[in-house]
Amino acid sequence: GEVATETEVLIIGGGPGGYVAAIRAAQLGKDVTLVEKDRLGGVCLNVSCIPSKALIDAAKAYHRLSREAERGIVVEGARLDFGRLQGWKQSVVQRLTSGVEQLLKGHGVTVVKGRATFTGPNQVRVENPGGGSEVYRFQHCIVATGSRPVELPGFGFDGVRILDSSDALALDHLPLRLVVIGGGYIGLELGTAFDKLGSAVTVLELADQLLPGTDPELVQVVARRLRQLGVKVHTGVRVLGWEEEPGGEGVRVVFRPEPRGAGAASAATAGAGAAPGAAGRGAAAEGTGARSIGAGTGGSGGAGAAGAGSSGSEEQAVVADAVLVSVGRRPNTDGLGLERVGVELDERGRVQVDAQRRTRQRHIFAIGDIVPGPMLAHKASREGIVAAEVIAGLPAAADYVAVPAPVFTDPEIATVGLTEDQARQQGYDPVVGRFPYAANGRALTLGERDGFVKVVADRETGGVLGAGIVGPEASDLIAELALAVEMGATLQDLALTIHAHPTLSEAVMEAAEAGLGHAIHVL
Ligand code: FAD
Repeated sequence: GEVATETEVLIIGGGPGGYVAAIRAAQLGKDVTLVEKDRLGGVCLNVSCIPSKALIDAAKAYHRLSREAERGIVVEGARLDFGRLQGWKQSVVQRLTSGVEQLLKGHGVTVVKGRATFTGPNQVRVENPGGGSEVYRFQHCIVATGSRPVELPGFGFDGVRILDSSDALALDHLPLRLVVIGGGYIGLELGTAFDKLGSAVTVLELADQLLPGTDPELVQVVARRLRQLGVKVHTGVRVLGWEEEPGGEGVRVVFRPEPRGAGAASAATAGAGAAPGAAGRGAAAEGTGARSIGAGTGGSGGAGAAGAGSSGSEEQAVVADAVLVSVGRRPNTDGLGLERVGVELDERGRVQVDAQRRTRQRHIFAIGDIVPGPMLAHKASREGIVAAEVIAGLPAAADYVAVPAPVFTDPEIATVGLTEDQARQQGYDPVVGRFPYAANGRALTLGERDGFVKVVADRETGGVLGAGIVGPEASDLIAELALAVEMGATLQDLALTIHAHPTLSEAVMEAAEAGLGHAIHVL
C-alpha cells in the first residue's frame, strides 16, 4: 500500500485547543504534526473571539465620541468608515494568526494543511486542499476540531440575509436594521456592537431572560443598558419564520410570545449539566442549540404588528436588512470517522472523555468545544495542555472549579466558580459580599458607574467559592477571583491584599470586605 508518514503526536485542528496542545507537546520533546483544514488559530482567532472583540471595542470608541460632552469633549462630524474598520480588524487577526504560525514553527511542529479523517485506530488520511491525500500514522492523537453554529430550521445561512456570527463579523457594509435571534452571549456581544456602530438592533430570545443560565442579578444591568442604547429586546418569544419584504426591502421575521414558563424551562435545562465555573456562557452556548423552532414562514397575520411590544399572544414581525442567528453551537465530530475507531459520542455529538481528556481509545484524546464543558477558548487551551502533558507522561487532569466566563457586553459580565444558589445546592452556607462600581473612585473617573462585584464565600471558613462581576473591565477583574477560587483563598486574603488606588480592582477587595461585614466605602 500507500506510504504513511510517522509522527508521535498528531493533532487535528489548529484552534486554541489544538495549537496550544501542539506547542506544549513539542516543548515536552514530542515529534508533533498539526493538521488544519482551514486557518491556524481556528474559529477563535479568525472568526470569533478576536475579531468580535476588535469590533466591540471599536464600536465602543465610536459610540462614546457622541457621549463625551459631559466631560467637555465635543466631537463634531464623527463618522464611521466601516470598510476601514473591517480592514483594521483583519489586520489584528492577521498579526495574531501569523504569530501562531511562527510559534509552531519555532517549536518544530510540522503543520499540514488539509482535512483529516480516521482510517484506522492509529492513522488518519489528510485530504489536501488542492486534491490528493496523504496518510499519517500516529502513536497519540488529540482531536480538537471545534464547533460550528447551529442552524435554525427555516433560517438556512446564506451569508447575505441570514447570517451566522462569522458572516456578521465579515460584513462589508453596516446593516441598517439587524435582527438577532438568540440573546446568548454571541448575539448580545455582536448586537450591541452593531447598535453602537449605527444599526437598529432587535434581539429575539426564547427564554424569559437574556443570557439564559447567567445570574439574573448580573444580567439585569446589561438589559437596562441595552434599553438605554435603544436596542429592542423581546424575551420569551419564539421565532416562527421569515419572508422577503416586497421589493427587496429586507426581510420580515415573524415571532410570537411563548406561553409563560416555557422559555424559563428551556433555560433551566440549558443550565443543567454545565460546568459550575462557567454555567452562564457554557449553558447559553450549548443549551440553546437544543431548541426546537417551528419552521415555515406561514406568511400569516404579522402584518401591522411590526415593532410592537411582546405582550399578548398575537404574532408579531420585525423587518430587517439582515438576521444574525446565534442560537448555539454544535461540535464538529461528524465526518471524522470517529465511530470507525471506537470513540464514543453522547446524544449531543460530544466526545466522551475522562479527566485526562482520553477517549475510550486511550491513545486518542479530545479537547475544546467537542467535549463537555463550557465552549470557551481558554478552556480548550487548558485541555490542550492537559492532553499534551498526559501524553508526555506527566500527571495532569482537567478541572473546572475555576473557569472564568467573560461576556463582552456593555457593561461586561464575568463569572467564576459557584453562584450563591449553586453554593447552597452543594451544601455550603454561603455569604455574599457586594460592592457597587458607583462607590469606586476609578469607575467614576471613567464615567462608568453601573455594575457591581459580588463575591460568594463559605461562611464557615471564608473560602472564596465564586464571584460575579457586571461592570467595566469585568473580564479582566475576574482573573483575581479565579486565582482566589483556584488557590482556595479566603475573603480575608482578598481583603488583606493591598489594592492600588484608584483602580477598579479595589471593588474586588471591598466586596470581600463587605462579605466580612466591614467594607469601608459603602454603608
Ligand atoms: P476551534 O477554534 O473551532 O478550532 C477548530 C479547528 O479545527 C478549526 O480551525 C477547523 O478548521 C479545524 N478542523 C475541524 N475539522 C478538521 C478536520 N477534519 N481536519 C483538519 N482540521 C479540522 N471564547 C472565549 O473564550 N472568549 C470569547 O470572547 C469568545 N468569543 C466568541 C465569539 C464568537 C462569535 C464565537 C462564535 C465564539 C466565541 N468563543 C469565545 C468561543 C471560542 O471561539 C471557542 O470556544 C474556541 O474557538 C474553541 O476552540 P477549539 O480549539 O476547540 O476549536
